[in-house]
Amino acid sequence: MDDLLSRRVRASPDATALVDSQSEREWTFADLDDAVDATACRLAELGVTADDRVGILMETRPAFVRLVFAVARLGAVVVPLNARLAPSELVAQREAADLICLVCEGDTEADALAMAEPVPVVSIDKPQSAAVGHLPSVDTDSTTVTPVVRDPTDPVALMFTSGTTGAPKAVRLTPRNFLASATASAFRLGVDPDDRWLCPLSMYHMGGLSVVVRSALYGTTAVLTRGFDADTALDALHEYDCTGVSLVPTMLKRLLAEGDLPDSLRFVLVGGAPTPRDLVETCAERDVPVYPSYGMTEATSQIATATPREAFEEPGTVGRPLLPTEVTVVDDGSPLPAGEVGELVVAGPTVTPGYDDPDQTAEAFGPYGFHTGDVGYVDEAGKIHVLNRRSDRIITGGENVHPGEVVDVLRSHPDVETAAVVGVEDPEWGERVAALVVPAEDTESADESGLTADDVRAYCRDRLAGYKVPRTVVFVDSLPRTASGTVDRAAARERVAQATD
Ligand code: ATP
Ligand code: MG
Repeated sequence: MDDLLSRRVRASPDATALVDSQSEREWTFADLDDAVDATACRLAELGVTADDRVGILMETRPAFVRLVFAVARLGAVVVPLNARLAPSELVAQREAADLICLVCEGDTEADALAMAEPVPVVSIDKPQSAAVGHLPSVDTDSTTVTPVVRDPTDPVALMFTSGTTGAPKAVRLTPRNFLASATASAFRLGVDPDDRWLCPLSMYHMGGLSVVVRSALYGTTAVLTRGFDADTALDALHEYDCTGVSLVPTMLKRLLAEGDLPDSLRFVLVGGAPTPRDLVETCAERDVPVYPSYGMTEATSQIATATPREAFEEPGTVGRPLLPTEVTVVDDGSPLPAGEVGELVVAGPTVTPGYDDPDQTAEAFGPYGFHTGDVGYVDEAGKIHVLNRRSDRIITGGENVHPGEVVDVLRSHPDVETAAVVGVEDPEWGERVAALVVPAEDTESADESGLTADDVRAYCRDRLAGYKVPRTVVFVDSLPRTASGTVDRAAARERVAQATD
């Protein structure tokens, strides 16, 4: 990873590598290289050497970027930790990751101290506690370290998954993974060194980390904001004439509600969760170049990205896989033909060599590659459609029902705005398919318009196997959602239970 930066420093030392929108400071690649060197020296003084694991507990800021490359320069492994987790969750990750030290900032010092013992803690800011060492944010230093070159297949980062389906898993990522992922993404987006890419995503998730790694490879400028705030992000987009931005769907929604995005934007990369149809429509109306993307930590960020045209013409698709990635739809160990629904399995140079825990690796890898745990299909044109997580599937009378497939049909009804499908307990069938349906706004309310549960069921019956048709249909004004904007499935089940009591 560090060699990407070194190559870039030789190619364009005076190009702007980093902009901190908060302090308005800028770093050229040469400045960044000096700062990385100084930070690497300090880490070496602390005893960090090749293969050691260095934890980082902070929000996105330039020091984070320096640390990532400095750790790589020493041949060590960077372990970004989610600063929003509770100390007890962080303790589990610290133990799993076997850290040699933990780097924090002023805002995370208390949490770092609470979780790190017996691992030493150093802070980028002036420490508040005597138990914490100081790793000052110096920009230049006369000493240098000799970079340790890693084998392309040795891990340089240990990234934790988001923990949606269980405890977060530690994923090993190599220089080859990062290089392949960045190259593939640049090919689809058409990135060039003049691009200025805003990154309001946290760097302890892949979406954030990948922006700064890519900046080194492409020579683009990474514009950083500390956390996401629609107002600040919109200002930064305009102020720095950003040409690209990486977001999750809820962030895009808030940005669009805040104001108009600048004309300078060439790509708005949206991923991490499905991009809702109405959001894609708003983007079409407002000429926002939206690129819905699908990816995961285990594949070093996105593996498929739809172009704005594909997104507008075919809402719901995440496009074709990025070049070196192979996606196979698998059911019961066998590959399925186009159009059939199964688990999405991914292979190629962006895919991790494995988790830190070999048992988890053994469980997740098969002959066709990494089992994503996501259910979907590849259409005749080769475009991927992600329906839902495997763990969300409903088993009714012994048959598997994938909620996403039923949701797609419900959403295609002209009087339906959106819908969610969940399984609820049923004495006869084990689980029963139930739907929460939000009627389209320009339709009168469900009660008055005559859109009834029977209509919805009849519509589904024409398009789906009988066991997939929702037995229960509940009309609601809006779907219950989690903080990250995804459907809150537990709350949806509760809503169905209330309505059918
Ligand atoms: P864990 O693996 O610990 O349960 P996680 O899978 O949420 O957590 P991440 O690697 O951060 O952790 O997220 C990747 C997942 O996010 C994908 O496997 C997929 O379920 C979901 N995802 C990402 N992009 C999309 C998308 N465009 N549409 C639907 N789901 C998406
Ligand atoms: Mg996952």
